[in-house]
Amino acid sequence: MNIIYKVFFFVGFADIKMDDLEIMWDDDPPERNVYGVLSANMSNLNEIIEKFPTDPAYIGAIIGLNGSNIKSIKTKFNVNVHINSDNHIVTVKGRNRKNVDDAVKYILEIIKHSDQKYKNKNKNKNVSSQNHEVSHNPKVEFKKKSFVPRFSASSRNDNIQVATPKSGENGENRLSLPTKNVCIGGTEKKEVLQPIDWESLNRKVEEYRKLQWAHLPKLRKNFYQEVKEIAVMTEEEVNEMRLVNNNIIVSRLKTSEDQMCLDIPKPIYKFDHCFKDYPDILDELKKQNFTEPSPIQKQAWPILLRGEDMIGIAQTGTGKTLAFLLPALIHTDGQTTPRAKRNGPNILILAPTRELAQQIAKEVNKYSFRGIKAVCIYGGGSRRDQIRDFREGAECIICTPGRLNDLVQAKVVDITSVTYLILDEADRMLDMGFEPQIRKVLLDIRPDRQTVMTSATWPPCVSRLAETYMNNPIQVWVGSLDLTATHSVTQNVELVDDADKFNTVLAFLENLKSSDKVIIFCSKRARADDLSSDLSLKGLLTQCIHGSRDQADREQALADLTSGDIQILIATDVASRGLDIEDITHVINFDFPRNIEEYVHRVGRTGRAGRTGTAISYITRSDWAIAKDLIRILEEAGQAVPKELYGMSNRFDEMKKRRGKDFKMGSHFNPFFKHSTP
Ligand code: AMP
Repeated sequence: MNIIYKVFFFVGFADIKMDDLEIMWDDDPPERNVYGVLSANMSNLNEIIEKFPTDPAYIGAIIGLNGSNIKSIKTKFNVNVHINSDNHIVTVKGRNRKNVDDAVKYILEIIKHSDQKYKNKNKNKNVSSQNHEVSHNPKVEFKKKSFVPRFSASSRNDNIQVATPKSGENGENRLSLPTKNVCIGGTEKKEVLQPIDWESLNRKVEEYRKLQWAHLPKLRKNFYQEVKEIAVMTEEEVNEMRLVNNNIIVSRLKTSEDQMCLDIPKPIYKFDHCFKDYPDILDELKKQNFTEPSPIQKQAWPILLRGEDMIGIAQTGTGKTLAFLLPALIHTDGQTTPRAKRNGPNILILAPTRELAQQIAKEVNKYSFRGIKAVCIYGGGSRRDQIRDFREGAECIICTPGRLNDLVQAKVVDITSVTYLILDEADRMLDMGFEPQIRKVLLDIRPDRQTVMTSATWPPCVSRLAETYMNNPIQVWVGSLDLTATHSVTQNVELVDDADKFNTVLAFLENLKSSDKVIIFCSKRARADDLSSDLSLKGLLTQCIHGSRDQADREQALADLTSGDIQILIATDVASRGLDIEDITHVINFDFPRNIEEYVHRVGRTGRAGRTGTAISYITRSDWAIAKDLIRILEEAGQAVPKELYGMSNRFDEMKKRRGKDFKMGSHFNPFFKHSTP
């Protein structure tokens, strides 16, 4: 009988996932008193696994352009290579000891080579040779030690012995360090595998990182001077102002509650309060007919102009783009190094989708502050054109994370010059699986940069990202939802059966006026495609936009709607955030969105720029989970609430009560809750 137990006693290897390790006990322990044999995976006893830590600075080099190094290691040595982006452990797995060892050596060669390149690059920089030595010691150490893996879980054949029992005191089994049989000069010797000293490694990595950035020019961050009008405001007046501006709440991310509001700039209420010294910005705001700053701008501008890191919890449509953009332009213009001498862009904006990236670029270029130019770098667009545009010179790059990493790896874009970083819609980027790319980007940018994050929600993954990579940021919450968007929109709710939705929407669309423009939202890509072709069969011209469509098609669809060539755009939620087409007259929720925030985003696509609009939502019985929130929004905006909606909400509450603690919100209550692949 073979019983497999998880091993929990290697406290010395605290950073190695315990789940990776399993111990196998034999009915007949071998005579040499081996207590157990380590194996990475009991279903795969012949697998050899080597793990070793590396400096994060080398991860890019190990991976290679578009993963080219990893791919070639895999084919060359017939092994698998995995790099854990959290703890920077490189794992090499294979079935042949020599292949695995050779692959490890190969990786160490890459590290050595990359290290050499770094040294050469810095040779002429004014860094003392002593410091240089210190800074590179970690890697020398990585190299020396890595040949004897810090820890390796291996096959039984490999004869790794672990946990020799020292039974005795209190009958406990006290376990010694794991050992490995190694062959040195033809003689087999036992080698003790030392626990990794993570603390010292981390210290050295930190030292190295500091030195890595030491040669960069000092940053100028503070461009804010509080005007008298704001300085004289009392605490009560400040609190009142925050309250009436969508209930702005401010706090430092990491301070105790009683300190929360200390040292946070007061909100302003006129454009002049922040930009009196920048008439070109004031002129542009005037041209846009903006009469006063939006709530997020009132609080964010003084914070950002003072050079603080900031997290803005605000939805699209609240003016958040301008909130981070104008301070970014001033920051860029105000750096001491002349623009021509900077090696690359100052502002990097990471955005989740191509559409949002393009829209931000449009906004930057609209302000054309002191010749600052923006270039958009996003997957799906022509790589060659983007490289050409970038090479023509840009102080601001707006990127989706994947394409940015691609161009950084290809050494086309150098982001070490970035001093103002914006993670726009961070929650959405993490939702879309961009976390590893974002973390990689963050490691490549100087740590004393100014960082801004915007997010509509505050899930733990976003909070972790902020804690790790931001410098004592100030959080600015602007209301729970920006309901002002919904106030300029007439919101109709129609209860229908799913099977009747098509005829209902068809009847509506057949009666459109020539000036009408409609966005119809569907829950899934396939559903959007189906609706688009069904309407085309009925002779209605439509365009469709969702995540599976080519970038060129998506751009064409938006251009057609903007120009009026088509009146009907069918979209998944990819289009609901950020898109800014001013004259949309109707939003139709063909499928109700998965949450009420998304509803507000969608509704906000109409009624823009001082116009009015209409939102029509088709609700089916399966949308009952969202009824209560929808009632709240409709009531708040003074809209008619259908009686049936109250009934649905009550039934849902009763069901929840009946199920008690077994109740879980999930896909079976709302068909659109789970499978949202916009
Ligand atoms: P955003 O939340 O950045 O997507 O902005 C939504 C829309 O609000 C954009 O069309 C902006 O041009 C507009 N906007 C930004 N700031 C203001 C302001 N202070 N007053 C009126 N509209 C604004």
